[in-house]
Amino acid sequence: MKIFESKQALRCWIESRGGRGRVLVPTMGALHRGHTSLFDQAREFASEVDGDVVATIFVNPVQFGPNEDFDAYPRPLEDDLALCRAHGVDAVFVPDVAAMYEEDRSVLVTESRLSASLCGASRPGHFDGVCTVVAKLFNLIQPFAAIFGEKDYQQLAVIRRMVRDLDIPISILGAPTVREADGLALSSRNAYLTPEERDEAPFLNHALTETAEGIDSGFLECIDKAEGFFRSRFALATLGRLDYFSIVDAGTLEPLSEFGTRPPRLIAAAWFGKTRLIDNVGLPAPSRT
Ligand code: AMP
Repeated sequence: MKIFESKQALRCWIESRGGRGRVLVPTMGALHRGHTSLFDQAREFASEVDGDVVATIFVNPVQFGPNEDFDAYPRPLEDDLALCRAHGVDAVFVPDVAAMYEEDRSVLVTESRLSASLCGASRPGHFDGVCTVVAKLFNLIQPFAAIFGEKDYQQLAVIRRMVRDLDIPISILGAPTVREADGLALSSRNAYLTPEERDEAPFLNHALTETAEGIDSGFLECIDKAEGFFRSRFALATLGRLDYFSIVDAGTLEPLSEFGTRPPRLIAAAWFGKTRLIDNVGLPAPSRT
């Protein structure tokens, strides 16, 4: 497995691979089974065309707000590289901030519709940072496909929109969320949870899943009732503070006013102490076991 810290070294390797196609998996590191599931899917996909899997590990400062956890974000690089190697990654790009961004950079890529609500409302500028870094990685690596997790459902939708609206010739693949046995979505940020918060964090997924099941069975027949039900279930997490819950159109992320016309996605974010967790489910709700 090749490891590159500079754009130039990455570029030379890409040239040396001739016409081989690439599948890209962008990450911020602190890798877990959610990330490695993306590597495995990328490996399978790339192998079909005798292509390469490229992973990136970069904690992107532009997508962190001033009071967020950029400095504290875990960076276990050696463990991360071992996981990349074990999951068939051909090359890893691990630039530092200076290698990635010009000091006087002055261009941001902004998606203005899907980014406005949900996490975009709670984290102003976050998706500008995501779109900018992903656009840069697309230009640097020029993959034919890139894989993103449904765990970050809004991010996946925003990137699909960026690719569509900017005519970027890359297929965007969404991968299902990998969870702990109790339903908690794997996240690098789970490491911040205290034992008590960790015990209660699965309530976020349980409330989403139970609400999705209620909608699916017809018991929660209107949006208001489903929202009320979600809130009552989430209230069982005494240490949790809901940031948002919304039932949105799975494609446009616009809030639904009724069921039946468009496929719904149930999407939520919540604080457990200082840790903000996100999760989402589609319908029919995937089973937890
Ligand atoms: P991050 O390192 O948090 O930026 O995540 C990198 C990629 O891994 C993103 O496409 C995430 O959506 C995806 N990812 C993170 N957690 C999970 C998970 N639990 N299951 C599947 N994909 C995930």
